[in-house]
Amino acid sequence: MDKLQIPAGVITGENVFKLFEYAKNNGFAIPAVNCTSSSTINAALEAARDVKAPIIIQLSQGGSAFYAGKGLSNDGQRASIIGAISAAHHIRTIAKDYGIPVVLHSDHCAEKLLPWFDGMLEADEEYFKKHGEPLFSSHMLDLSELPKDKNIAICKKYLERMSKINLYLEMEIGITGGEEDGVDNTDVHNSSLYTQPNDIWDVYRELKAIDKKFTIAAAFGNVHGVYKPGNVRLTPSLLKEHQVYVRTESEKLGDKVGEKPVFFVFHGGSGSVKTEIKEAVSYGVIKMNVDTDTQWAYWEGLKNYHESKKDYLQSQVGNPEGEDKPNKKYYDPRVFIREAEKSMAKRVKEACHDLGNVDRL
Ligand SMILES: [Zn+2]
Repeated sequence: MDKLQIPAGVITGENVFKLFEYAKNNGFAIPAVNCTSSSTINAALEAARDVKAPIIIQLSQGGSAFYAGKGLSNDGQRASIIGAISAAHHIRTIAKDYGIPVVLHSDHCAEKLLPWFDGMLEADEEYFKKHGEPLFSSHMLDLSELPKDKNIAICKKYLERMSKINLYLEMEIGITGGEEDGVDNTDVHNSSLYTQPNDIWDVYRELKAIDKKFTIAAAFGNVHGVYKPGNVRLTPSLLKEHQVYVRTESEKLGDKVGEKPVFFVFHGGSGSVKTEIKEAVSYGVIKMNVDTDTQWAYWEGLKNYHESKKDYLQSQVGNPEGEDKPNKKYYDPRVFIREAEKSMAKRVKEACHDLGNVDRL
């Protein structure tokens, strides 16, 4: 890997920092693809391999439980914990062979799901004892529904623990809100839907005092699908204001930081205009979550396959070529699931192109 001096496979600690710095300095972002199965994980890895770029694989709490099997009880977040660990080991086992760096991340964890977070963290600490690095690269805490002080205090507590084993923390500030929260926000900087510069500075200052290994998901009009399009305006230029604010405040304290001190994460970007994505990336977004669009792509692959092979998929024997013709080669899961994977991989590659995450290795 001549352009980026980090190894293939799951990366942690300093290598993640190096990758994020590299992305920020070169004006690109890495898609974080939500995966729920070995099949979707493999599709994401294949796509990144094909475009010669790094990738972030992330597991949600629900996705982790699904990975463990929906037949298991998720009492006490047990299925989500072991599902995430199982996926992590799957990724660690195969990632190197795809020849690309992989950031292994867990997605949104709200306050009520903290037992899931704690369970993964224990697995990280155990893995660290044996291998000198955590099992995952990074975890996300979403306490954006809490008051700012409480959000930051809990993040600090966790970052202190995570720092000891070189884990990255992603946090969120500024809420996406419930439906009753300001629907008419087209022209105003509503403090709940648009994170303010001093909020970012408070987070940055407090967390940086512990460790540099954190990223911030700020609200700049992005939504998790709560609002209809057009109700909230995406304002990526806010991120630029945040960078300037944090730089200025840091310099006042004698801390010489770069032009873009903050690593930003873009949530709720599905359906965004490509020029807005580009703009956000130019202001220091190094990770963008991709879920809804790749879910559709996976389904569409299966849907198109079924439509094109319909007459071969109605019974085990008998198709338009003859009453006694076997259909095994059409209903073999390796055939139809592969079609879903191919379609998803294509969509992941598109996300890579949108974010400039191509030919980076
Ligand atoms: Zn979010």
